[in-house]
Amino acid sequence: MAQARLKEALLANARRVVVKVGSAVLTREHGLRAEVMARLAAEVDALFRTGRQVVLVTSGAIAAGKARLAGLAHSSMAARQAAAAVGQIEVMALWSRGFRARGRPVGQLLLTHQDLADRRRRRNAAKTLDALLEAGVVPVINENDTVAVEEIRMGDNDVLSSLVASLVQAQLLVILTDVAGVLTGDPRRRSDARLVALVPDPQAEMRGLVAQKAGPLGSGGMASKLKAARQAAKAGIAVIIACGLEPGVLGRVFDPAAETGTLVLPANRRLASRKQWIAFALRPAGALELDRGAADALRAKGRSLLASGIREVRGDFGCGDCVSLLDPLGVEFGRGLVNYSARELDRVKGRQSAEIARLLGYKVADEIVHRDNFVLLSGEP
Ligand code: GLU
Repeated sequence: MAQARLKEALLANARRVVVKVGSAVLTREHGLRAEVMARLAAEVDALFRTGRQVVLVTSGAIAAGKARLAGLAHSSMAARQAAAAVGQIEVMALWSRGFRARGRPVGQLLLTHQDLADRRRRRNAAKTLDALLEAGVVPVINENDTVAVEEIRMGDNDVLSSLVASLVQAQLLVILTDVAGVLTGDPRRRSDARLVALVPDPQAEMRGLVAQKAGPLGSGGMASKLKAARQAAKAGIAVIIACGLEPGVLGRVFDPAAETGTLVLPANRRLASRKQWIAFALRPAGALELDRGAADALRAKGRSLLASGIREVRGDFGCGDCVSLLDPLGVEFGRGLVNYSARELDRVKGRQSAEIARLLGYKVADEIVHRDNFVLLSGEP
């Protein structure tokens, strides 16, 4: 399957990986989930043993501290910072215990926005991280909540994780949360809600897929995860959003055949190699027959493919698969990665982009095939 081949190439290349574990995975009402942390420590350690270097971005300090300090007035900033001071030690104690069981040391870095914005401090942090990783130590990073003041707080560790991923020049960022990945709807309300296995275009709008605020799709946080994912993807880092509560999740993330989570493709893999890959490495899983206007727009004008130009959908492909693009005579002139599945395209073909959200109940992107994901096979119109 096309997605498996793509994943394989990205994963083979992923020597440095940032794994971000959110509070939804690490905490429950009464504090930290020690068993989940022990399991994840073992899974991270296993990645090290395959020759990768892993940086862990952890949450849970404030939640753990609040659970410990039952008498604390929880609402004020100072109370949250006090909770972080107490909880951070507990978070580290559990990571340390989990990794010690595997014989692996951990190091702690607490970072603020300024640390990452200031060139000198940033360079120092990067060097420290290099040294830790070279020594086989797992760096465990959290925001320094005890000193970060409201205006400049990164606020959520999703943002922190994408900044850390570019700081250490990781090839992959894995965001572990409590849902399977990005879904096409609320599974409790829509029986047809499915996992979006691939987001080929980090600029994609993803409207309607993601709860903007707190909501069941991503426990309130999927919008911020996608934002962080896009940031990382724009910096050339692939991102996988997956469920950290599933035992063995990291092993599956690194198994190209396992189809775990949502993969967001990096934007700036070298275009030439990306296009070669689309043209030659992938086998089309279906085809789209286009009208003359759309075929010309792709062939001659370097535009993206929109729903309005599609006359017919052939085959049963999924979102992110490679498809053949056919001119009105049925001749294949190009190939591209689709932002929608065949079933979805059957419903939106010939329609205006503005109608997609209404027809499907969500919208991944205006483009059916983005120009960056299109490759011309024959130049002749
Ligand atoms: N830095 C916060 C903490 O450790 C977590 C922020 C987040 O969950 O995104 O409690």
